[in-house]
Amino acid sequence: MKIAILSRAPRSYSTQRLRTAALDRGHDVKVLNTLRFSIDLSGDEPDLQFRGRTLSHYDAVLPRIGNSITYFGTAVVRQFEQMDVYTPNTSYGISNSRDKLRATQILSKHNIGMPATTFVQGRADVIPAIERVGGAPVVIKLLEGTQGIGVILAPEIKTAEAIIETLQSTKQNVLIQHFVKESKGRDIRALVVGDRVVAAMRRVAKGDEFRSNVHRGGSVEPVDLDPEFEKAAVRAAQIMGLRVAGVDMLEGNDGPLVMEVNSSPGLEGIERATLLDVAGSIIDYIDNQVAFPEIDVRQR
Ligand code: ADP
Repeated sequence: MKIAILSRAPRSYSTQRLRTAALDRGHDVKVLNTLRFSIDLSGDEPDLQFRGRTLSHYDAVLPRIGNSITYFGTAVVRQFEQMDVYTPNTSYGISNSRDKLRATQILSKHNIGMPATTFVQGRADVIPAIERVGGAPVVIKLLEGTQGIGVILAPEIKTAEAIIETLQSTKQNVLIQHFVKESKGRDIRALVVGDRVVAAMRRVAKGDEFRSNVHRGGSVEPVDLDPEFEKAAVRAAQIMGLRVAGVDMLEGNDGPLVMEVNSSPGLEGIERATLLDVAGSIIDYIDNQVAFPEIDVRQR
């Protein structure tokens, strides 16, 4: 097949691994800078230009859209969808997963375990909201934070209220979330490809930090996933409309609590921790979908 990897970081570990995995399997692969596309809506058919020239035919596209270019990046992916080029992650799925509130709203009606979460705007509604999710200590999250930035643990209700008011006064939207104490600074990242988890790791926070992000000094170890966690991860990715996803879960007393579904999961940490060929699994999955398309019931 001929596949395009949409990425602004051709030299990053993930892009290199995906490219090599495709080449090793005899595919024709190009890494295309997402920001160099022009979306052409002038002709009879939806079209795309790349670096000023009409794009040649591709069988599939693998979007790796960074947070800072979500709007343009999802527009490019949407255009590929209009042109009937296969993508494992739709523009709809990528947009949904980018916003923590939108993602939580979508997942919440599907019986997926999640930490209790609320979203309020009015000053008078803040304290009742904190109490509803179990009181202090409470987790406060910026809607579009990544790598643990914008995730705060407030020890007391008064502090939580002050933090929320400060953030809201600078027009930042925040989620108020139950602090899942029993997860003890650990979480699970499951790499979902299609309908299965191809690799999983546990991330452990450094010292007394509660955030287990590797960017916050967390360490990683391979983990044999409990079927319950596997099922939650696969379902969460499916509901979000993502066939390649990194699903983050806390280990709650009553089972998995899904925190986030990432549409461009990094491969370095998980491949190094598990020694598994995740990039190869992703390429094989796409190849299979191109050869034997599934009936796609996802919303566009
Ligand atoms: P980001 O998208 O910035 O990584 P997350 O929502 O995944 O933000 O949170 C970062 C880390 O903080 C998580 O990996 C987890 O270790 C910890 N964490 C987040 N939410 C909670 C919570 N409700 N209870 C306990 N720990 C949490």
